[in-house]
Amino acid sequence: MSTTRAHLPAGLAAFDLTGRVALVTGSTRGLGRTIAEGLAAAGATVVVHGRSAEEGGIVAGEITDATGSAAHHAAFDVTDAAEVEAGIDRIERELGGIDVLVNNAGIQRRARIDEFRDEDWDALVQINLGAVFALSRRVSRGMIARGSGKLIQIGSVQSQFARPSIAAYAATKGAIVMFTRGLCADLGPHGVQANVIAPGYFETALTRALVDDEAFSAWVRGRTPAGRWGDPRDLVGAAVFLASAASDFVNGQTLYVDGGMTAVV
Ligand code: NDP
Repeated sequence: MSTTRAHLPAGLAAFDLTGRVALVTGSTRGLGRTIAEGLAAAGATVVVHGRSAEEGGIVAGEITDATGSAAHHAAFDVTDAAEVEAGIDRIERELGGIDVLVNNAGIQRRARIDEFRDEDWDALVQINLGAVFALSRRVSRGMIARGSGKLIQIGSVQSQFARPSIAAYAATKGAIVMFTRGLCADLGPHGVQANVIAPGYFETALTRALVDDEAFSAWVRGRTPAGRWGDPRDLVGAAVFLASAASDFVNGQTLYVDGGMTAVV
């Protein structure tokens, strides 16, 4: 008996995202913006997202110009339940369903634990974890109904390793690894895959203070076998893989894209 599954596209065609609708939260800048452009370059119709409709519109236009794929935009605060509901409703109505959700929107707050403020803890938990839960729950309903879908969470090397002043951030990024395994258990039987991309240190607005700190920047380069900070384009291959049919038997996993940082001491 042949082990070939005739209905699966062969070779590079398995990575083709033509006809898929992908929502990337927090894609007006930083890692999300590059991931959205990468998915569009692979053929997806992407929805650029952030809190500013104006910025979203500009970025969607740039992505269409760069890739030739249709790009739309949606503006809502991921921590506001009513806005999330209305935002996802509109995308589903106008584009006919969300095939790929990348839960990328996230924040960082730094302080030693004895000085860590309640409001910073609350914001981290709401955005980095609560919104991932709410969006995964909402979007998975359509995926279950269609019998297919891809949920991609953006973790971090802090899903596994801590550093001074970021205990709360590390707690949220660690939690989404277990949350994603739970999604795999619930959704795998319905043809839906949920996985985590865990980036190392990348230059974005979120890490500006670290990039500008020469001692820290040198530590990152020294601690990373690749000897450099990540370029957001380093994430595109992992994102296209986990968004496409090429990863249909990959579920509940965490893929570190970190230049080797978590592989070595
Ligand atoms: P940026 O600060 O550059 O971008 C964050 C994005 O999230 C923006 O588009 C922002 O839009 C959006 N966002 C933030 N809060 C909300 C909200 N409440 N509602 C809707 N959108 C929101 O971050 P990065 O690109 O650096 O980080 C992206 C993800 O990658 C995060 O989850 C982060 O934890 C993770 N990560 C980053 C690493 C790095 O080295 N940079 C390393 C490992 C993980 P706006 O504020 O305009 O609404």
